[in-house]
Amino acid sequence: MNDFPARAVVDLGAVRGNVRALAAHAPTAQVMAVVKADAYGHGLVPAALAAVEGGATWLGTAQIPEALHLRRVGVTGVRILAWLYAPGAPLREAVEADLDLSVASRWALHDVVAAAREAGRTARVHLKVDTGLGRNGLVPAELPDVLAAALAAEAEGVLRVVGLWSHLAFADDPGHPVVRRQAAVFAQSVAAVEAAGARLEVRHLANSAATLTAPDLHWDLVRPGVAVYGLSPVPQVGGPERYGLVPAMTLEAQLATVKPVPAGSGVSYGHEYVVPHDTVLGVVPLGYADGIPRHASGTADRWGGPLQVGGRRLGIAGRVCMDQVVVDLGPGAAEVAGDRVVLWGDGRDGGPTAQDWAEAAGTISYEIVTRLGARVPRDYV
Ligand code: PLP
Repeated sequence: MNDFPARAVVDLGAVRGNVRALAAHAPTAQVMAVVKADAYGHGLVPAALAAVEGGATWLGTAQIPEALHLRRVGVTGVRILAWLYAPGAPLREAVEADLDLSVASRWALHDVVAAAREAGRTARVHLKVDTGLGRNGLVPAELPDVLAAALAAEAEGVLRVVGLWSHLAFADDPGHPVVRRQAAVFAQSVAAVEAAGARLEVRHLANSAATLTAPDLHWDLVRPGVAVYGLSPVPQVGGPERYGLVPAMTLEAQLATVKPVPAGSGVSYGHEYVVPHDTVLGVVPLGYADGIPRHASGTADRWGGPLQVGGRRLGIAGRVCMDQVVVDLGPGAAEVAGDRVVLWGDGRDGGPTAQDWAEAAGTISYEIVTRLGARVPRDYV
């Protein structure tokens, strides 16, 4: 292993294969691989490159610095859309780096136009319409005015309105009526914008869930994130295997300590776990500082066991600490310090998955992988 006693092994072949599978689910659309938040914890640059090798023609980031970083390390020849920024953002640099920018408010249009003028280049923008998520985006009533201003800038050559886009609130619940309502508002917005003279290159609405479950929402471009990393966006409908996806990240650690303790010993802060019989405890050197959810504390008897040790599934004994968790290896356990523990992986050998952890901690798999701490080394295979 590394100097650090744990690592995340990221299978870039899985990322490539997942993008290919997503493209097959959306054969009439281009694929934008969403690589924000360090590619959901998988490593921005390696994941982005693998996604492009798998067929993504676009990359998506939330923040402009994430997109600029990709350009700086030489990710060219692929469009990159950045969509979330505040006044003072490095818009000129973004335009010079040939990024596509989302425009989600009047001030943003004004500032992008100013940045393009300064740069002496044409900015490519995607107008974002809030069709019902209630988050970033122009409400449909503001769209005509902002579009008119954008088209005026386009006539001057300072800007090109290349995209219209939106994001869904209930894509993970495919039958939810809000999905249909948002889809209708989006279609109306597209029609209005095109009737006003915009020559849109890409109209896009679908995240992973809509890519996999709603072909009529694919438009020209799909924007999957979590599915690129092989996690199901609709676990209640089916796991990754149902959609031809393979989880790309395996988190493994070495047992730091293995020691016998007598019955009645309390384990970890607050002694929430007291060993029922003479047993052997193992210390796993990962904790909530590394993204191990504290809400998964004491899961030994609540679910199938988040830790895989020598082919056995075992639970967490007591509270998750900042840097470590304890596992009850059982009486007479044969493990020794240095032995491998798997926290999550592709689940194909019956091992735990990020989805299992999400269920144990009352969250979503997105949060499990994205919060994996910066100090945990990522190894790429
Ligand atoms: N598009 C936008 C605007 C997003 O914010 C996200 C992520 O939250 C995505 C696409 C990708 O979503 P998912 O990971 O559910 O595919």
